[in-house]
Amino acid sequence: ATWDTSVIYNQLDNNFHVSVIMYDISDIINVKQMQIDFLRNASHELKTPVTAISGFAKTLLGGAMDDRKTLVEFLKIIDQQSTQLTSLIQDVLTISHIQNETSQHAETLNLRSFVAERLQGYLSMAKLHDVTLKNEIPESATITVDSKTLLRILQNLVSNAIKYNRPGGQVTVKYSVNDSFWQLHVSDTGIGIAQKDISRLFERFYRVDDSRTKQKVSGTGLGLAIVKELVDSIGGAIHVKSQRGVGSTFTVEFPITDNT
Ligand code: ADP
Repeated sequence: ATWDTSVIYNQLDNNFHVSVIMYDISDIINVKQMQIDFLRNASHELKTPVTAISGFAKTLLGGAMDDRKTLVEFLKIIDQQSTQLTSLIQDVLTISHIQNETSQHAETLNLRSFVAERLQGYLSMAKLHDVTLKNEIPESATITVDSKTLLRILQNLVSNAIKYNRPGGQVTVKYSVNDSFWQLHVSDTGIGIAQKDISRLFERFYRVDDSRTKQKVSGTGLGLAIVKELVDSIGGAIHVKSQRGVGSTFTVEFPITDNT
């Protein structure tokens, strides 16, 4: 623990009284350190896509756009990096409550095709990490949900499952259902999470203190805090099962709403 002290002098009946009050300020120091880490990580996360966007744009302007294949390929990268940038800015706005939660709008959709379309957007990231994405949602899965909420939950869980995986690993998205809720499962074959860290994963800015991964994998520690807020906002729940060195499964429970 780290201590701070205050000293109070009192004079009563010609006697001096000295009181020393000691405060345990380790929590305050930890929060400060987490904020410093967050700012460092967030600016790194912001700079990375900006650097890529400007680099590819400059290369195209420098003559590379004359080749149509290169042009299309680079524009795709620019588009993907812009999406990543938007998603990060959205995370920061959401977590700082600058942006009010927009009202929820439930719609009925086919979960398999919804997930398939979103996984497409992660193909280049998966390729970079040498990870395979698998959509094991049955064709018959029809759900009613606010699609923006589902999208943000899925994006955060899938990008973590890719980032904290191993080369040659897999990410699998599954579905199950019972009378009162349906579940979305995102499993990976990655590094896993120690039991002691699981309860803290959903805190803002929290990143597991595994120095090897922390250095290698960039992040802000906001993703899961946002997932938890979104899950709470729809009256759902989230569970994590994990084994170090084997992998993790994040399960989100969505209440089945009576939409008739
Ligand atoms: P970050 O931006 O750091 O990825 P998150 O809030 O999404 O932030 O996750 C918090 C921390 O939880 C991560 O830094 C990582 O240590 C751990 N974590 C999240 N998802 C996984 C996963 N699928 N496998 C292993 N560790 C994970």
